[in-house]
Amino acid sequence: MPALKSPPLRILITAGPTREMLDPVRFISNVSTGHMGYSLAHVAAMKGHKVTMISGPTPLHPPLKVVFYSIVSAEELKCACERLFEECDVLVMVAAVCDFTAEKSQSHKIKRVKIKSLRLRQTPDIVAGLAKKKKNRIVIGFCLETQDWLNNAKQKIKRKSLDGIVANYYSGAHIPFGDRKINTAFLDDQGTTQHLKHKSKRVISQALMRWIESIHKKKFPKG
Ligand code: C5P
Repeated sequence: MPALKSPPLRILITAGPTREMLDPVRFISNVSTGHMGYSLAHVAAMKGHKVTMISGPTPLHPPLKVVFYSIVSAEELKCACERLFEECDVLVMVAAVCDFTAEKSQSHKIKRVKIKSLRLRQTPDIVAGLAKKKKNRIVIGFCLETQDWLNNAKQKIKRKSLDGIVANYYSGAHIPFGDRKINTAFLDDQGTTQHLKHKSKRVISQALMRWIESIHKKKFPKG
């Protein structure tokens, strides 16, 4: 991998799903595998950046040369992000944060015969909260849409005060989960969109790191 032309960045990457426990043995989550975040952390570290990673539950091994923290729930992810955000130049929020959690997690296994319905509440929007106080940092989000993916992604850049977003879509024919070639798009807050078609997550990670470095350089030319 070519040596860095500018000083290394301190990059905080979140990855994988979160799990919201309903009782000691059951949870709500999503199908995120963690491959994208882990691949990005590996590529960033191999380029010489200082990478810290926070991951939800996945079977993947932490990449080499990466400071690694594991979390389970959205609330734990929020606490870890808030603690580590101060010390980063770039936050890349790849994690598929579960949008709902149980209003009350039960300490004993819920009995099937007793349950009529589940009360859920929204989890906090972690990236939106952090981006409000980003100052001289850049914040990149990810999204997965099932319809109108580019427009939804553009709206998320504004709504969450992001510097850019990586947009993915899910349809019966196009499944972006796991270690496979996918179509994706990088959108920045200036309205520029870069499409990557049928690329592996390793290739996407390399392009993404170049894109992040160029955004950082444009916004903070003195480093
Ligand atoms: O789920 P959504 O499409 O809104 O996710 C867009 C971005 O927001 C992602 O980067 C995701 O990690 C982040 N997010 C978050 N907290 C949530 C939900 C999503 O930080 N509760």
